[in-house]
Amino acid sequence: MSEIVDLLGLDADGLARRCADWGQKPFRARQLMRWIHQRGEHDFEAMTDLARDFREVLKRSARVAAPAVIADNVSADGTRKWLLDVGAGNAIETVYIPEADRGALCISTQAGCAVNCLFCSTGKQGFSRNLEAHEIVAQLWHASRALGAGDPAQRARGERPITNVVFMGMGEPLQNYAATLAALRILLDDNAYGLSRRRVTVSTSGVVPMIDRLRDDCPVALAVSLHAPDDALRDRLVPLNRKYPLTELMAACRRYLERAPRDFITFEYVMLDGVNDTDRHAVQLLALVRDVPCKFNLIPFNPFPNSGLRRSPPDRIRRFAQQLVDAGIVTTIRRTRGDDIDAACGQLAGEVQDRTRLAQRSARAAGNAGAAATTGGRVAQPKRPADRRTRQPAET
Ligand code: SF4
Repeated sequence: MSEIVDLLGLDADGLARRCADWGQKPFRARQLMRWIHQRGEHDFEAMTDLARDFREVLKRSARVAAPAVIADNVSADGTRKWLLDVGAGNAIETVYIPEADRGALCISTQAGCAVNCLFCSTGKQGFSRNLEAHEIVAQLWHASRALGAGDPAQRARGERPITNVVFMGMGEPLQNYAATLAALRILLDDNAYGLSRRRVTVSTSGVVPMIDRLRDDCPVALAVSLHAPDDALRDRLVPLNRKYPLTELMAACRRYLERAPRDFITFEYVMLDGVNDTDRHAVQLLALVRDVPCKFNLIPFNPFPNSGLRRSPPDRIRRFAQQLVDAGIVTTIRRTRGDDIDAACGQLAGEVQDRTRLAQRSARAAGNAGAAATTGGRVAQPKRPADRRTRQPAET
């Protein structure tokens, strides 16, 4: 028996190829895309403008299925978080952040993450597997339906609950490149979600070769988790830096801007008390990014027990931000959202069946370095959207 294909993960070309295999003309692929992504329909029988024979083929050969919802929590501030079951003991998280003039969905690309940033609890859980394209797109499909996007009345009013999508949840999207690329193409397709490239942001810890690939294949807005102004410190906070040091990363950012839909890179910078938040760090940072048009998003660290890390005091964060602003860089300070449902920065965790034995390796390393190893744990700092341009550091 041939394999059942999940249509959520097929972009226009992929769907057209499948339709051809089923003896259908290319316009059937566009019809299917609109049913699935714009109307949120999963029941082929309800797709009444498709020929009955074709619907029978679809029922035998395909499906439209999002992962099961394990938990659905809504914060007092309107932030909503879903925990989705992606099988074999793994669960991922997706977060919707409504604002006055837009709604952003933060989606995951991996169950866990292998980058192992010092301050991140997603990394702390280790890595299980890459999500497939349909599992990435399913997060948007599910959230859109849950927020009423398939409702004809809502469509008639032109309302779009999700205006922006950010690849900033669990995982490093550029270490799951093929699936991320397929998902991006679906998000941008006018027959699917029709999002503009400026409203889709991929966040990376700095996978340099893949930044170049993304520039060539599907340039969307880019955010880079920077967190440190020099290699010695970044090696410690973002271990991937040992492979792709800052000089290479900054050069990749400049190359990316040649084709980017926005004329700046967003640098994410978690504020860690006494670690990366001094006047000297700000001066170093300004020197580092002097040739990269950029804006900064400062993220107050959300501490957790035994992390060995603390959040920078508010005055320190404001002073740091002001140094950047005074040098002409648009800088925002991220406002915590959804912390009552553990959806704030530093709290996305999901469930991961770690195949990397990270906990054992960490315990061994801690044993070697002594019980008071300063590396501690990591706290999830999944990056978040929502920035405003301002001459003052703004809270987002
Ligand atoms: S901050 Fe991002 S890249 Fe680093 S461990 Fe967490 S999810 Fe992975």
